[in-house]
Order: sequence, then C-alpha cells, then structure tokens
Amino acid sequence: MIKFLDLYAQYCSMKDEIDGAMRDILETSAFIGGAAPAAFEKEFAAYQQARYCVGVANGTDAIEIILEALDLPADAEVIVPANSFVGSSEPAGRRGLKVVFADVCPSTYTLNVADVARRITPKTRVIVAVHLYGHPCDMDGLQALADAHGLIIIEDCAQAHGAEYRGRRVGSIGVAGAFSFYPGKTLGAYGDAGAITTGNEELARRCRMIANHGRVAKYDHEFEGRNSRLDGMQAAVLRVKLRRVDGWIDHRNRLAAVYSSQLAGVGDLTLPVVAPACRHGFHLYVIRTARRDELMKFLTKREIQTVVHYPIALSRLPAYENSGQANEPMFANAASATLLSLPLGEHLDELQIGEVTSAIREFFAD
Ligand SMILES: *Cc1c(COP(=O)(O)O)cnc(C)c1O
Repeated sequence: MIKFLDLYAQYCSMKDEIDGAMRDILETSAFIGGAAPAAFEKEFAAYQQARYCVGVANGTDAIEIILEALDLPADAEVIVPANSFVGSSEPAGRRGLKVVFADVCPSTYTLNVADVARRITPKTRVIVAVHLYGHPCDMDGLQALADAHGLIIIEDCAQAHGAEYRGRRVGSIGVAGAFSFYPGKTLGAYGDAGAITTGNEELARRCRMIANHGRVAKYDHEFEGRNSRLDGMQAAVLRVKLRRVDGWIDHRNRLAAVYSSQLAGVGDLTLPVVAPACRHGFHLYVIRTARRDELMKFLTKREIQTVVHYPIALSRLPAYENSGQANEPMFANAASATLLSLPLGEHLDELQIGEVTSAIREFFAD
C-alpha cells in the first residue's frame, strides 16, 4: 500500500520528542497560554522570516482575523482564486464582504495576474494570494496591481510552509500571511491550529487582541473579540515538528523531481512546474489528465492512494451560487475534472515513487 499521508509513521520517527513535549504540557497544565505557544510563535516567525507571529486556532480563522483587523469598508470586495479550499474564501464571506473569484494559471495553479486585474473595481480592497499546493504566487505581479489600486495582499500560506519567492519566505511578503497547521498540512499539529505572520506591529497587536476576546491582559477587554487561540498542546507538538520541516520540504522536492523526470512525456499528463526563483513547498504534487477518473481507479486497484484537490471549483460550490461565476469560462472551472494529487511526503522514498510512476506508465501504455 502506498499511502497518500501517513501521520503515524511520522509520529514514530520522533516519538520520544513528541511524547516528552506533550508530557511537559500535561505535567504543568499549561493548556492555554504559557511558554509553549509563545516559544512557537517566536520560532515560527523566524522560520518564515516575519517580524511577528500570532498563534490562532486554525488557518481559516487566521484569514478572518486579519480581515477584521484591517477594518475594511462594509461594501469591500475581496478577490480569491477560484481553485482553492473553501477556507480561502469563507473568511471574506463571514465578514459580510463580497467574494470575487479570479482564475488561476494552468502552470502554477496560483492567481492569474491578468485575470485579477480584470476583476478589480473601485470597491476592491483585498487580494487573497493562495500559494496553492505549496507554489508561491506571482507576488511581483500581484504587488504591482496592489500598488496601482491601493489594495492589500493577504497571503494564504496554508499549503506553503517554507516556500520561498525570490529568496523570501511566503507570509513575509504581503501585509500578512495566514497559516494552517491542520494535521495533514506539511507542518501539522495534532488537532486544529493556525498562525498569522506580519511585519506590521499594530496589525499583529490587533490580531492578537481579536483572537483573545479583545484584550491584552486578563480583564481589560477593549472591544468584543473572539476565542481563537493556539493551545499549549498543539504548540508543543508544532515546536518538535518545526525543527524537522525544512528537511521534509527538501525531501518532498527531491521526490517531486523524481516524479517529474519519470513522468515526462507520459500519456497526456501535465506535470507541475516550479517558476524561476521559487522554492516550491510541494505540499501536493498535482498532475492533470483527461483520463483522471480512470487513472485514479487504476491506481486504487494497485493500492496507490490519490486525492483530488479540488473536485469542485469554489465558484461552482452551492455556497457561492450567488456569485454567478459558476459558468464563466475560467481554467479553474474546467480544471477540476482533470486534477489528481499523487502521494508525496516524508513517509515515502524514491523506490515507492518509482512504483507509482511505473503504474502510471503502464496505465498509459494501453
Ligand atoms: C487548509 C487550508 C485552509 C484552512 O485551514 P484550516 O486550518 O483547516 O482552517 C485555508 N486555505 C487553504 C488553501 C488550505 O489548504
């Protein structure tokens, strides 16, 4: 069996450290607040090259809290890529803002700058730049649009821990970055967790207050916030994993290179690309083929697990029926029928990638 994800194997590879870190929390009862979340915030800010980091409860909250802290006009429009997880678009909708979907590039699956430009109106305030699958967006292109139209870029880095654009880690380029530590992400907790990164001290302070009932100290609530904190147990786990994550990302890149060399020219496959001057986070290795469903079935029979990210474009979800964008001739609207994510991660080695590519070559040899 070639698993898509194997969190148990990952745990076994660092069991003593994880057990020790969790025992520390249990023995000190530091479940909320305490040393571990503060230490993780410091270490994660350094890792992502951001000045400030605020731990929150999950990646979706991270985006929503940033939007709230930005204090946008009630009729503001927020541009979001049409191919992403719903956590990219929900926060704007939850804030009562208008979600406008833009298309993604067929090469990197990140925002198509020309299409974003076409969607800008006098009400547009924010671009949610999703570094999908771990590939950084064209940040120079998006920043040029942001500068020309007075827009704010929020980076959705939920899939892009450690990814770099022109030598800068994602989450340190836009006004703020939002990270998810959902267990299956490249850096995952043992439950829900997330973080906000930013270089703006005032924004970091506001986000921290919003995430903690509108307060700084115990009972000085300056406004109504909410409860969205990174807890001690998750922070303790994340600190152990953070020490390993760069090695995991390098390993993912090596395996991705093996996939790309062994699958070049096979069938009608379109393989992922890495744009110049980028470090791909390779959270996912996503291919396209017109025979996606057939290939998926074939691989399942060979005990090779694959997943589709995402089977329905955001613009086509019932939740966004009112956007009227379901039938626009966007690449994102059409691509979902052809996308397939192959197994990738620190639980696999080059031999196993070879097994996957052999099976795929066999499928297309028919
Ligand atoms: C996982 C994910 C989110 C949401 O993160 P949660 O921690 O699950 O709330 C947002 N955007 C993208 C692109 C994601 O992959």
